[in-house]
Amino acid sequence: MDNNEIKNSNEVKKVVIAGGGTAGWITAVALAKKLGHILDITLIESNAIGTIGVGEATIPTSRTFHQLIGIDEQELMRATNATFKLGIHFENWLQEGVNYIHSFGATGKESWIAEFQHFWLRAKEQGMGGNFGEYCLEHQASSQKKFACAPGMDINYAYHLDALLYAKFLKNIAIEHGVKYFEGKICTVNKNHNNGYIDSLVLESGQTIQGDLFIDCTGFEALLIEKTLQTGFEDWSHLLPCDAAVAVQTETTSTDILPLTRSIAMGSGWRWCIPLQNRMGNGYVYSRRHISDDQAIADLLKAVDGKPLNEPRVIKHRPGVRRKVWNKNCVAIGLSGGFLEPLESTGIHLFMMGVVRLIQFFPFSGINQSLQDQYNGLAVAELTGIRDFIMLHYHLTKRDDTQFWRDCRIKELPNTLAHRINLFKNNAHAYQAAGELFRVDSWVQVMLGQGIVPEHYHHSVKLMSDANLAGFLESIKAPIQEKVKSMPTHADFIQHYCRS
Ligand code: FAD
Repeated sequence: MDNNEIKNSNEVKKVVIAGGGTAGWITAVALAKKLGHILDITLIESNAIGTIGVGEATIPTSRTFHQLIGIDEQELMRATNATFKLGIHFENWLQEGVNYIHSFGATGKESWIAEFQHFWLRAKEQGMGGNFGEYCLEHQASSQKKFACAPGMDINYAYHLDALLYAKFLKNIAIEHGVKYFEGKICTVNKNHNNGYIDSLVLESGQTIQGDLFIDCTGFEALLIEKTLQTGFEDWSHLLPCDAAVAVQTETTSTDILPLTRSIAMGSGWRWCIPLQNRMGNGYVYSRRHISDDQAIADLLKAVDGKPLNEPRVIKHRPGVRRKVWNKNCVAIGLSGGFLEPLESTGIHLFMMGVVRLIQFFPFSGINQSLQDQYNGLAVAELTGIRDFIMLHYHLTKRDDTQFWRDCRIKELPNTLAHRINLFKNNAHAYQAAGELFRVDSWVQVMLGQGIVPEHYHHSVKLMSDANLAGFLESIKAPIQEKVKSMPTHADFIQHYCRS
């Protein structure tokens, strides 16, 4: 009888979540709301250890997740000092002084033969067309600091929110929905001698908490999945250049609120600016091979606008993923499962997907290999797509002003990404593979923004006369301009919709 068969005979009813950061509370709320009537759910967190306290920019999938678990948007935004996010403003990534927006919206209209970029490239060749972003509502609204949303209004957005307040907000909901809560440090993890599964967690107080399934949300500590089960880690530092960040909060210096995360390339990495209602979140993500922690702190403090509100904090990480995010009776959700870097704000999305998939593949009748393989396979496919998307930004830079950027340019690419870049460069084609997060819209905006000019486009678009093409483009552009004109500023919208 193998290990899986031993556990297979046991139904899974008691779920224990170790860790109460963003990942722990996201997991607790989702499990409680969706499966709380049939599961017994416990969460343990340690106030002495605390949380990492960063992770404040999200992507639109967070809205879908919140809807799924019944979270009210206005209530959430008021509770977390949140603002709206329509995309990311990339500054100086291609070259100093060259900026572009990766917006969350769809750009233009496509035909079944050719995506919109083919029409736009034809128009450019014929001396018309303007900027690619003119055909995207979210791009245009964000560049004018405007925002509005209402039921039925087709606008794709996400949030900037206070990470600590977000965890607190979720914690209240989880406890209201029956999650049992223990505060204290886990000092021992007991394993079953026969099959190596986790049996129980022992707190400093001496209390023992038993479970059938354990969710490791202990952050970089990876107490269960790595320190206990020694699952192994796939290191991606040869692919992703940054391995540390320094974060600091500052006072807001303007009454305008940009509905975008700013991502500004620096000498040895990049820095984020995340506007909340009451403050700015800032951080410099850098490579420790190229710059010291002290220098990164100094560079960040020199670059930020407002007065710092706290001491800068350095957070080190190793880019990569756990070899299995589900191993035996432990599932890693959050930083314990791995971390790439914050460039495209995918962390919280991945935690949400981690728990959504767990609900979908929940091992009610026992843990078996096929469930684990399915779960792990989907997680790796998604992470690989995100990794390639992040690499794209670094690799396509034309900067050669520092060793960091010169090293980024020559990095060897995975075949998956090299193929994607060639396909776009030679033919203007882009695609979203099955299970991938980023849509064609995202790939195209970043590839164009990072300076790729496709050599050819699909000739079906030549079937349109110049006049028809101009009319087609205008029919997309004009309503966007009208819609943006009628929108309030982002700051005004927040004031009446979700002022904290
Ligand atoms: P943590 O916040 O570290 O929580 C770990 C929990 O485990 C804590 O409650 C701790 O007390 C508990 N714990 C640990 N050990 C024990 C123990 N022995 N006993 C009991 N409890 C224990 N994601 C995004 O989506 N957008 C972003 O903009 C973004 N920016 C990021 C920037 C940086 C620099 C980093 C590093 C990550 C970023 N992320 C971002 C990723 C991610 O969203 C955040 O890092 C996230 O808040 C981390 O969540 P976590 O719950 O996994 O870990």
